[in-house]
Amino acid sequence: MDLNFSPEHQAFRAEVKSFLTQALPDDIRQRTLRGEKLSKDDHIRWQRILAAKGWLGHCWKKEYGGTGWGPIERFIWDEEVHLAGAPRRNIPAIDLLGPLIIEYGTEEQKQRFLPPILRSEHWWCQGFSEPQAGSDLAALKMRAVRDGDHYVVNGTKMWTSYAQESNWIFCLVRTSQEQKKQAGISYLLIPMDQPGVTVSPIITVGGVHAVNQVTIEDVHVPVENRLGPEGEAWSMTQFLLSYERIVGAGLGASTRYLAEARAFARRTVRDGVPLARTPRLREKLAALEADLMALKYTAYRVLADEVAGKAEASVVSVVKLRGAQLQQAITELMSEEGGQLSWPDVLTLPEGEPVVPVDDEYHAQQAFDRRKLTIYGGSAEIQKNIIARRILRI
Ligand SMILES: Cc1cc2nc3c(=O)[nH]c(=O)nc-3n(C[C@H](O)[C@H](O)[C@H](O)COP(=O)(O)OP(=O)(O)OC[C@H]3O[C@@H](n4cnc5c(N)ncnc54)[C@H](O)[C@@H]3O)c2cc1C
Repeated sequence: MDLNFSPEHQAFRAEVKSFLTQALPDDIRQRTLRGEKLSKDDHIRWQRILAAKGWLGHCWKKEYGGTGWGPIERFIWDEEVHLAGAPRRNIPAIDLLGPLIIEYGTEEQKQRFLPPILRSEHWWCQGFSEPQAGSDLAALKMRAVRDGDHYVVNGTKMWTSYAQESNWIFCLVRTSQEQKKQAGISYLLIPMDQPGVTVSPIITVGGVHAVNQVTIEDVHVPVENRLGPEGEAWSMTQFLLSYERIVGAGLGASTRYLAEARAFARRTVRDGVPLARTPRLREKLAALEADLMALKYTAYRVLADEVAGKAEASVVSVVKLRGAQLQQAITELMSEEGGQLSWPDVLTLPEGEPVVPVDDEYHAQQAFDRRKLTIYGGSAEIQKNIIARRILRI
């Protein structure tokens, strides 16, 4: 139910649905829905379709080639792309760096960096976390020492998503040592195809190569590649939060997973009875359905506050935490009900030779992969700290 969406926004949702039905290539849709990894070429193909429609920079201002959409359009878009099985785009470039450049970049930087993102020529990764700086991001150590019109950069970034496919990285670097550790941090935009930049793969528990370690040794970066004033990156990073308030709810993803779980329960028969008819599973599915509905209305409340300009930043933590937990609960349920599987079975799968039915493997892989949702973008424990301090005032 589209509770209180205006007729204009309902028309917009219909337009988005119809565009996704017509424009999303079927092979990409099928593989996304099956949880298969897409190639970078697939992503570029989809991004170029979006760019031709003018819908790639969905959180960018119109004058820079974006959609100029407000929070409600962005919310609807995010829900519908997940439901349709559209792949995610180069998120660090589109959702993070683009808005940062538009807000803080010089005119020269806007002309230089925004168009290649829309043409899918520049593929960016986000270099924030380091081996000793994750939750405590301000502890980062990557150093950028000014030498004339260059910075000389040294350090290691960790868990960098899709660095193996990127030709640029935007890094948080330490340009000076201040008493307050949040001070003295700057943004540098660094080309990756040069000596001194090394990308080493990290394979996660789902058997996926999505994250990497990126080592940067004595790399010279021109001063004109610094985004924003020197030492001011911390406050610039806080600005990004305003763009991801309720996207973390993952409503589209959870709705899709739950529909898959119901379909799976209907078609899987154990001891002559479809799983969907067993009281235990019905109870679990009903509980998840109720959780999804509660999350949806919470997200709507936050969205309404945001439109009214009075959304509390801390409420994002509630939505993100519950959204992540819900996706994990649904995929774990499917993995459990897939049966037969245990962790070691999955981890010792011979390469290219699945020893379990594809459905079960898929469910297990999804469940393992969803673990990341309570780690990145602020772990579950960090979100709980924020909720305790700023909402419950404990
Ligand atoms: C799949 C994936 C993709 C990622 N992609 C990127 C990327 O593209 N770019 C990037 O920069 N980073 C990326 N990250 C890194 C991510 O942001 C960090 O993993 C995250 O911030 C947690 O930091 P950490 O791994 O160093 O764990 P730590 O911060 O060391 O935390 C370890 C454990 O301690 C808990 N903990 C830490 N501090 C507290 C506290 N104060 N109170 C209570 N508990 C606490 C944490 O919740 C966690 O359970 C990615 C991570 C993953 C898993």
